[in-house]
Amino acid sequence: MGAAYIVDSEKAKLFYGMASEAGEGKTVIVGHHNPDGDCIGCLTGMEAWLESAFGKKGVMIVPDNFPDYLKFMYSTDSILVFSRQKDRSRIGEAIARADLIICMDFSALSRTEGMGELISKSGAKKVLIDHHPSPETFAGLVFSETEVSSASELTWWILNALGPDSAIPFKAKESLYTGMMTDTNNFCNTVYPSTFLMASQIADAGVDREKIQMEIMNSFSEDRMRLMGEMLLNRMRMYPDLKAAVMVLDKKAKEQFNYRDGDSEGFVNLPLKIKEVEISALFTETDGFIKVSLRSKGAVSVNRLCRRYFNGGGHERASGGRLYMPVEEVEGFFEKCLREFLHSGE
Ligand code: 5GP
Ligand code: MN
Repeated sequence: MGAAYIVDSEKAKLFYGMASEAGEGKTVIVGHHNPDGDCIGCLTGMEAWLESAFGKKGVMIVPDNFPDYLKFMYSTDSILVFSRQKDRSRIGEAIARADLIICMDFSALSRTEGMGELISKSGAKKVLIDHHPSPETFAGLVFSETEVSSASELTWWILNALGPDSAIPFKAKESLYTGMMTDTNNFCNTVYPSTFLMASQIADAGVDREKIQMEIMNSFSEDRMRLMGEMLLNRMRMYPDLKAAVMVLDKKAKEQFNYRDGDSEGFVNLPLKIKEVEISALFTETDGFIKVSLRSKGAVSVNRLCRRYFNGGGHERASGGRLYMPVEEVEGFFEKCLREFLHSGE
């Protein structure tokens, strides 16, 4: 078991104690804005475990909608969404009266959008389970590890530290596997020996990896597929001297291809398939801001790039942020920033 990720067992026990003491419906599990597979995977995995370990339901909350292709996971229909008016007051109440708030897959409260203040004000005990660098200090108990593939993988090792993996319910295994698989881009990025061990243990438990793979990788709509073609054919701009590629997804293209949440997931990785491209950027126009997605396959830290210029952050090779400017200006702005950043030798 040399490859297992070792979680401090005292901390794991503390977590177990907090979870067992929390009242029915008084454990809140919170994910980040623009929820991805890892976020929904660890939320639903945690919820499945809490239910089976203590027979108590928790309350899963995300700031905004998540894509349909993640809805096959356990209990996603009970996830509350803060941006939905009908869920708002329930979320406010749940956070205010919670005994325990488990924050998953984010390191800064700002990533929960308007819920950050509610969480700060709540008298609940707070736990952070995350794999991003430099976590904020809002939680009393922090599991923050960057040497794991995903928050889902970290959750797997925390739950394993509490007992044999046979005690982890099947539904949790399915969710955590999905979270890990999506965050590693199907075992391409940030994969550690512990990641393969987790995959092997979960496969051994009989989780249907092929089914999960079909749900995630082979369930595009025709519109999504054609939008991908449009982006690559007509909207990918190359900057050979910067070893960079940029794509801009504006509202016009979204309308043309009946864009739905999550339809551009993974697009930013595609230009990295070009040998000479080391940095890829995707800018997506939304209501109120331009969403920034950056990827690197070389030495350039897109985390630092994002922190410095794009109001965000993330991992060394996968980061995001926001811009507040007309969509027509983002390409020029990106080029200027990247030039300056590379010139500065960071
Ligand atoms: P994506 O490009 O897939 O939206 O995000 C990639 C990674 O960047 C995420 O896993 C997350 O770590 C980080 N990220 C995305 N958006 C933001 C943001 O607005 N702020 C911060 N601090 N990190 C972000
Ligand atoms: Mn993640």
